[in-house]
Amino acid sequence: MFENFSEEAKRCIFMARLAAITEKSKTIALPHLLTGIRKENAGIFRGVDWQKITLKLARLSPENLKSASQMAGDVPLDAKAKKALLAAHEIAKKAGGEPVGAAHLLAAVLSVDAKLRKQMQKAGMAKERGVAKSSAREKGAAMAVSRSGIGYDLHRLAENRKLMLGGIEVPFEKGTVGHSDGDVLCHAICDALLGAASLGDIGTHFPDSDPKWRGVSSLVFLRQVRQYLERKNLKIAHIDAVVVAERPKLGPHFPGMRAEIAKSLGVAPEQVNLKAKTNEGLGELGRGEAVAAHAIATIQSGS
Ligand code: MG
Repeated sequence: MFENFSEEAKRCIFMARLAAITEKSKTIALPHLLTGIRKENAGIFRGVDWQKITLKLARLSPENLKSASQMAGDVPLDAKAKKALLAAHEIAKKAGGEPVGAAHLLAAVLSVDAKLRKQMQKAGMAKERGVAKSSAREKGAAMAVSRSGIGYDLHRLAENRKLMLGGIEVPFEKGTVGHSDGDVLCHAICDALLGAASLGDIGTHFPDSDPKWRGVSSLVFLRQVRQYLERKNLKIAHIDAVVVAERPKLGPHFPGMRAEIAKSLGVAPEQVNLKAKTNEGLGELGRGEAVAAHAIATIQSGS
């Protein structure tokens, strides 16, 4: 359950455990979690008048912390605390797969205890933080964001090779040299999507040292990246790309490319825009020794 928990969230739970030990409780309950969150990130409670909170929080003085941390033995979570941690996981997932932090934990604790939520609101918890008032679902939606990523790729052109671009073969006297099918457009789009999702780059996921990817269609990479995004609840909003090639003319092939790219990514062709440029005869691209592509992807998180 904790694989997506940030160090901050883990420390909150650790502190909650110490709070339970200090109170000689056999389980970690919601008040202990709240104590742990407050200990780790007091800032998210700014404005709260604790006098108005009837819930008694454990006192984590340095002495208490020291003696509690010296006590052996694990303290399990009670049913509500378990529910809260699962809810925190969901809240962070809906917010774009970001690691669970103290704010997610607080939102989760308050989502499983309506009474405490009301108390926190009455005690002055700032509504604009979207933490105290929100249910887990509302919280996820409130944190929906749009992100962009950029991608670039270049492959050399050589004779006796196929020119694969955007998942289709473009008839030409030369083709790209590459470990996979050398599809610069698909590669640039993959990198743009991975960038937007903060998932690194194409080389990390599909290394050219892996024989598995030799000669493979780059549409396979797009389909795989789509799965990575889906796992993080990220939706593709739009892709725009420029292919730089002196020759051949690419415009007539764009409808086919857009259809293949869109199908692989599970979006409409209208969400994939393609443009072509020459390099005005300059450099390697201009001399027809290589073809390159730039792409930008916009994705959305949340519900
Ligand atoms: Mg490449």
